[in-house]
Amino acid sequence: MEERKMVVGLPRAMLYFRFRILWRAFFEELGVPVAVSGPTDREVLERGTDLAIDEACLSLKIYLGHVDALVGKCSHILVPRVSNFGRHRNMCTRFEALPDLTRNVFRNTGQKFLTYNVDVLEKKKEEDAFLEIGQALGYPVRTAKRAYKQAKKAELAYRKAKAREQDTLCRETGLKILIAAHSYVIEDAYVGRTVTEYLKQAGVVSLRADLADWDAALECSQELSGTCKWEMSREILGGIAMYENVVDGIILLSAFPCGPDSMVNELVTRRVKGVPLLNLVLDSQTGTAGVETRLESFIDIIRFKKGAL
Ligand code: SF4
Repeated sequence: MEERKMVVGLPRAMLYFRFRILWRAFFEELGVPVAVSGPTDREVLERGTDLAIDEACLSLKIYLGHVDALVGKCSHILVPRVSNFGRHRNMCTRFEALPDLTRNVFRNTGQKFLTYNVDVLEKKKEEDAFLEIGQALGYPVRTAKRAYKQAKKAELAYRKAKAREQDTLCRETGLKILIAAHSYVIEDAYVGRTVTEYLKQAGVVSLRADLADWDAALECSQELSGTCKWEMSREILGGIAMYENVVDGIILLSAFPCGPDSMVNELVTRRVKGVPLLNLVLDSQTGTAGVETRLESFIDIIRFKKGAL
């Protein structure tokens, strides 16, 4: 095993924002160095857009740009397949196709990809998937198992801390706005950060639906939909149900064209009453100025309604 030369690349896009603690802790426990691609910028987006088919969502285009930035710089690049966590707990189909799609796009580069497969409906659990990665990198099952257990502990502690932060924000005074978006949209430096930075400088307290306690959110999502089958959409719906009564407005933030969001956002628009909603759909052409203008009017409308303008 060429342990010294081994470096696992982590594209800073899509599931990185959900699993980064788990991934980083797992590889750290194994003693495998990781390299994370830099924050998204115009160049990454343009490269990803060139590599993707036109119909790909913005998040997938960004993802391919990040993979491209790592090609040739790491011994392996991690590209997982995450299909589902059980019945009615599916991921968007893009996450099922990711390893095949990525291998195909970069087939002529000689780059090695490290993949794992989570498909609980087919009896492929997350832990088994991580043991497979460990073995693929040359580690005994026992070592990989220990690394996975430690990584899960770190992930759980992180999620709990984030959920507590959201609960603390609920008690803040001042204008509060809930952002309902996938983590990889909201946290992307080129896409979602325009929104979070603008709210911050406007003095708004922003909460995030995706950071609510996941188990509680899955339960609460039933209040808005008993049939939504996408895991991450259910978490976001649950976050909305948990916080809709404590915020002054909700921003539905999506990457164009997102199948799950187009249905879920429509559902939220019909079922969540009494709190102003802003539907922001971003694509690779969306300019910062346009987004800021819409945010400014949304905040003004809320302040006006509250008699604070
Ligand atoms: S949920 Fe939407 S944004 Fe995310 S990968 Fe699927 S289509 Fe793209």
